Amino acid sequence: MHDLQSTWRFVDSSRDQMIADLQKLVQQKSISSSGEGVTECAELLASMMRDVGIDSRVMPTDGLPVVFGEVKADRDDAPTLLIYTHYDVQPADPEDAWDSPPWEGRLVGDRLIGRGATDAKGNLMAHIKAVQSLKATGEMPINIKFIFDGEEESGSPSLPAFVEQHRELLAADASLSFDGGFDAGNVPRINLGTSGLLFVQLRAQGGRHDLHSARARLVPNPAWKLVWALNTMKDPSSRVLIDGFYDDVRPPTSRERELLEQAGWDDEEQRKSLGTEEFVGGVSGVDALEQLLFTPTCNIAGFASGYVGEGRKTLLPASAAVNVDFRLVSDQEPQDILQKLRNHLDRNGFEDIEVEGESGIEPSRTDPDNPFVQVVVEAAKMVYQQEPTVRPTGDASGRQAVWLAGKLGIPGAGTAIGPPDWKGHAANEFMTVQHYLDGIKYAATIWTNWAEQPRQTR
Ligand SMILES: [Zn+2]
Repeated sequence: MHDLQSTWRFVDSSRDQMIADLQKLVQQKSISSSGEGVTECAELLASMMRDVGIDSRVMPTDGLPVVFGEVKADRDDAPTLLIYTHYDVQPADPEDAWDSPPWEGRLVGDRLIGRGATDAKGNLMAHIKAVQSLKATGEMPINIKFIFDGEEESGSPSLPAFVEQHRELLAADASLSFDGGFDAGNVPRINLGTSGLLFVQLRAQGGRHDLHSARARLVPNPAWKLVWALNTMKDPSSRVLIDGFYDDVRPPTSRERELLEQAGWDDEEQRKSLGTEEFVGGVSGVDALEQLLFTPTCNIAGFASGYVGEGRKTLLPASAAVNVDFRLVSDQEPQDILQKLRNHLDRNGFEDIEVEGESGIEPSRTDPDNPFVQVVVEAAKMVYQQEPTVRPTGDASGRQAVWLAGKLGIPGAGTAIGPPDWKGHAANEFMTVQHYLDGIKYAATIWTNWAEQPRQTR
């Protein structure tokens, strides 16, 4: 059994070096939206990984590179964990809004201030430093594969193809991501699910160009056509009417429902912050939270046709377009929903409405009773001396560990080591020294505890 206490002591006694290495990574820009510094950062990261004994390489994708790393356990029967996080960051504009330069990583009191200090270079570096700490105080308890994304802040567009292409390389028993910070009240959180997303544009065509509205007696109006089509897609109770839309929806288990009850939900506060008098369907309490996390949507995100500016124009528009997004839940597949939407429109006489859809993001959900999840929860309790918040799934969509888990058919969990008010994507983003050092211990503890699980429960 690995002596975790000695590993934790090593983390504390190496404090200065741990901080210096995070500063070094923060100082190398890696802005994925512009591409600035991303390749340089990938090379730097790969070399920092090699310095602690991680076999690493910069791998091309259709976009910005992935940094892949591998470190082997010192025993044969150890499990393999796939760790996802990202090395790209948001821009730092406007730079004069920062109290210290965003690309310096200056230590001010207990705070390391800089773009990426938490999101996600601090979270990322915790893993690198955990490898170093474990190796310095004993052995590597598990096999680890690292996949560090260079496009997360831009929606990870190249990741699906990369994963498809490298399934063998990425094969693992579970996946884990570290990104972001604690919940308000300084409580660690563990996410077990993610929403999916399908975004489409529907387009209808009328006359060849905009016409005098008197011609509406003869020429069909494309805006009406879209309105009629939309009207067949959802009823006033918010039930989606597309055939087969709900076929693959997996309702929450009793255990997941239990987690919702523990999560804490304040109707009053939520209504106030969302600016609504009543929730859709009149739900309240845990039912509202369940509706938020476990039901799919069909949402009109934008509608454009004709003229609604100053003055009046009696106009018959030539075209109309509506953007619709669907938040999907496990186990709905974006491409399947896109096909069902096409079939629905055809069946209802809207063959001539054009549908343009993207590939979408798949939803994913890991069973809270999975032994790997228990390992992460127990590690959070050991390191942080408190019960973490466990979320059975999230309302937003993203391609982190839980998404990867769905792709690869393994359990997955997402957690975070940053401070609760870390100022993500804003000026003065920071990591605290305490959260960073604890995060290194958290990673080392998860790995060590998982290695000690009896094999059959992994
Ligand atoms: Zn992030």
